[in-house]
Amino acid sequence: MIFRQLFDSASSTYSYLLASRRGGEAVIIDPVLEKVDRYLKLLEELDLRLVKAVDTHLHADHITGLGALRDHTRWLTVMGEQSKADVVSMRVGAGEHIRIEGINLGVIYTPGHTDDSYCFTLGDRVFTGDTLLIRGTGRTDFQHGDARAQYHSIFNRLLKLPDDTLVYPAHDYKGDNVSTIGEEKAFNPRLQVASVEAYVDLMENLKLPSPKLMDAAVPANRRIGLQQDRSMAEVFAVEPDELCSILGDDHIALVDLREDSERQKYGKIPGAYHVPYTALEQHLGPGGLLSAISRKHEIIFYCQYGERSAMAVQKARSARVSARHLKGGFTAWTDLHLCVA
Ligand code: FE
Repeated sequence: MIFRQLFDSASSTYSYLLASRRGGEAVIIDPVLEKVDRYLKLLEELDLRLVKAVDTHLHADHITGLGALRDHTRWLTVMGEQSKADVVSMRVGAGEHIRIEGINLGVIYTPGHTDDSYCFTLGDRVFTGDTLLIRGTGRTDFQHGDARAQYHSIFNRLLKLPDDTLVYPAHDYKGDNVSTIGEEKAFNPRLQVASVEAYVDLMENLKLPSPKLMDAAVPANRRIGLQQDRSMAEVFAVEPDELCSILGDDHIALVDLREDSERQKYGKIPGAYHVPYTALEQHLGPGGLLSAISRKHEIIFYCQYGERSAMAVQKARSARVSARHLKGGFTAWTDLHLCVA
């Protein structure tokens, strides 16, 4: 496995690049905007294809690299279900998985630092975001933080992992880079409390200053999709009610770009082909399903929120396949109570 812990000294953030092999797919956790060029160079050097970029939560202390990476690579941005970031292209919930070739991240919902905080497991290690730090825990005094929820997230979820599980946090301010669950249980001063009340009391009396970048970072991180070519996404968009009126017409071929897990979780629009976004390029190429369909049909892509489908329109047009996409995705479709299978 390729495992890289990358550091941004300005915000003391750790980002993690993971892949199962050289030449294969990669995922990055908690990328920082200022380091995007470094990540892209490393990906090229290791011959990796970044297919998913994930944030453990909406960060207040740095601007996420999710939007820039998506603009460069046209791949997926992933956060938890509670995320308010406007253009996350795929959301995951507790007990689900984030999958790429050869890597399967387990998803644990760990609210407390924020209400959209998640941790991710991978074999013998856990990426703890700002929920559990080395000899510390993430502050709970802003962004819908909740010390009581954090206590439960840590004591009833993270500390239930085996003691030798390696802990990789999103930040460290003292120079540590890895710990274990057993070490944190024994030596993390915030975890030496007798009750949830004692933990809440401890967290409420920390009296920390606001992060320097908070006023800029939080709004910026909610709008990570603004750099996308919005005009293109708009011009080739189909409104849900328009799609409803033409659905079933012979000249229309509707294509669902979501993963199996999302189709099972949310449902689907009847009569659609299924081409997961990760397989799009091969199907757009000569002899591919989509290039064949496009000879007789107008392709309309849809995904969960309209992000992947907007990028798919661009990829299709680069491959000389004309296509439109469902604006707002399956979420907009179900908001209007339109037919679902
Ligand atoms: Fe944070």
